[in-house]
Amino acid sequence: MKILVINTGSSSIKYQLFEMDQDQVLATGMVEKIGESGSIMTHQRRLEDGQFQKTALEGRIANHQEGFQHIVSFLGDPEHSVVKDRSEISAIGHRVVHGGEAFHAPVVIDEKVIEAIRENIPLAPLHNPANLMGIELTKEIVPDIPQVAVFDTAFHQTIPKRSYLYAIPFELYEKHRVRKYGFHGTSHAYVAERAADYLGKPLKELNLITIHLGNGASMAALQNGECVDTTMGMTPLSGLVMGTRSGDVDPALPFFLAEHLGMTLKEIDGLLNKESGLKGLCGTNDMREVIGKKEAGDEQASIALEIYAYRIKTYIGAYFAALGKLDALIFTGGIGENAPYIREVSCQGLEKLDIEIDSERNNQRGDGIREINTSGREVKVLVVPTNEELKIAQETKREIENY
Ligand code: ADP
Repeated sequence: MKILVINTGSSSIKYQLFEMDQDQVLATGMVEKIGESGSIMTHQRRLEDGQFQKTALEGRIANHQEGFQHIVSFLGDPEHSVVKDRSEISAIGHRVVHGGEAFHAPVVIDEKVIEAIRENIPLAPLHNPANLMGIELTKEIVPDIPQVAVFDTAFHQTIPKRSYLYAIPFELYEKHRVRKYGFHGTSHAYVAERAADYLGKPLKELNLITIHLGNGASMAALQNGECVDTTMGMTPLSGLVMGTRSGDVDPALPFFLAEHLGMTLKEIDGLLNKESGLKGLCGTNDMREVIGKKEAGDEQASIALEIYAYRIKTYIGAYFAALGKLDALIFTGGIGENAPYIREVSCQGLEKLDIEIDSERNNQRGDGIREINTSGREVKVLVVPTNEELKIAQETKREIENY
């Protein structure tokens, strides 16, 4: 069975075509800078020897509709594709950022689902409109292929009230659904399942802390396999220090910025979401560069890394307290998988919680799941590569089979 996974952003569309029998990527690509003069489309298809052949298309792609038409024609074109006919694609899985309280699981898309995603636009004004456009355009272009929505928020819908409600007038929750939702759910769920496989135990018997460190970053606490807390909130701004997002700050900071610096709401939004985090602290949001700068003696980069790791460590402590017992700590995402220094500093001094990283294991490179704790420690520390697209494809397959 072949499943196409689509992630539509405001100026980009990413896609991957999977052969589900072997969990294998057949084709992958991206349309970027939609609406700009320098739009680029890249398409890679798997050849029989397992290598990928890359094709690029440059020139203005005026809008998302044109972008999708290019994708569909690349997928159907014998020269660039791995399918003989579009009808070979059994289903399309869409990443949708915000499912609000309406969606606890993936869902086959119909008019009601589209309406519910639309109703969640106020909660994710930057993401849901683009996700919705992706769904509507693919429905228009390939109406016969069933489509499934997989939500970033759904995995966190098991979080109890004590953790998801903010201590503000209750009516804001009742009338406007102001609460913690959490994001990166597909990644947290995927690495938790992989970790359970590795540990040889059912997920529902495990307490885990999952730490997703990419450009965005979040942690989740799982009790008996279910999410009970996460660091992102109503929006992805809260919690950990990220590439360009501040993570936790005093909620009164915007008042100060407005009153004393005369900043507008839009400017404050831009400051906290796009100019803060690692970028705000030391001038770059790319972790490789931050580590490079630190190694070259840059003080600002050093302090940025200290703040970054300290925030993770304090959340490990908080989630340990929330869970009572911990089976494994899981690092994932571009930074979690590739930056041993961050893993090491985030776990330093946690021996009393039975968390200790073995320096040699931590520094060994590898592609699969790796165990990096010191032997004999109660809590396993694992590096688990994430694969959100594969998880979306698996969920899509399951939904259409059960539909
Ligand atoms: P996204 O959230 O966009 O999917 P990724 O999960 O790919 O992001 O993570 C991107 C981050 O991973 C960047 O900060 C990048 O510098 C970092 N990263 C990638 N490889 C390494 C590496 N070898 N060492 C340190 N950081 C790395």
